[in-house]
Amino acid sequence: MHRDWVDTLSDFLLDDGTIFDKEKIFPYAYRHSFAQRHADAGVPIDVLAELMDHDSYETTRSYYRVKEVRLREAVERVTQLQFDRHGARIWGAVTSVLDAERARRAIGAVVVPFGTCSEPTNVAAGGGACPLRFRCVGCDHFSTDISYLPDLRTYLDDLLRQREKLRSMSEADDWARAEATPSDAEITRIRRLIQRVTDDVDTLTVAERAEIQKASQIVRQMRQNFLGMPRIQQPLPDLRVERPA
Ligand code: SF4
Repeated sequence: MHRDWVDTLSDFLLDDGTIFDKEKIFPYAYRHSFAQRHADAGVPIDVLAELMDHDSYETTRSYYRVKEVRLREAVERVTQLQFDRHGARIWGAVTSVLDAERARRAIGAVVVPFGTCSEPTNVAAGGGACPLRFRCVGCDHFSTDISYLPDLRTYLDDLLRQREKLRSMSEADDWARAEATPSDAEITRIRRLIQRVTDDVDTLTVAERAEIQKASQIVRQMRQNFLGMPRIQQPLPDLRVERPA
């Protein structure tokens, strides 16, 4: 019945003018279309996995792909708004930050929580050997772009929450609390970086801002779905025996 119905439909013209092969229209293909349309609309993979009743994100990933042209355009747009750790625009060094793990290695950078890292040891270790415990805003090897703005804001909120929580924690020694508390310097740097990126975006026209927002969403989706986001590592415990109790 499905086949008979498909055969009654008019031809579907593709972007290049060719006619879509109707043999490719069968019930199971609808699941792929469903996944692709949701992925294109920016639905996060955990929500999509739930909608498709998948236990594993890997299964969900196999149902759609980020369209190459769309992604490339988005990456190019987003990388036009790249910044160093101080929030100064980086011009002329537009490099694809997302194409693939292989490409990123080839250009000597890895994705870190809010941007990219070019520190050679960390790059060689695939991003898992940061000598500064991911205090990226204090490191010259760090750069970021507009698509990381939501991550920067979330991180700042986390730091502020953590600081408040630790201030009211009476069950810990002062030194332990002091070492676990996010530094004012880091909070100030992150805040300043967010402000500079935001100020820069504010100079764009409404249409440009809308385009950047859309491109950022595509790039973030790609990053999340295909690369996974590195997390901030917890500081290693300090086991010096001379430490007072
Ligand atoms: S602090 Fe960030 S940018 Fe610097 S080496 Fe570590 S991961 Fe790379």
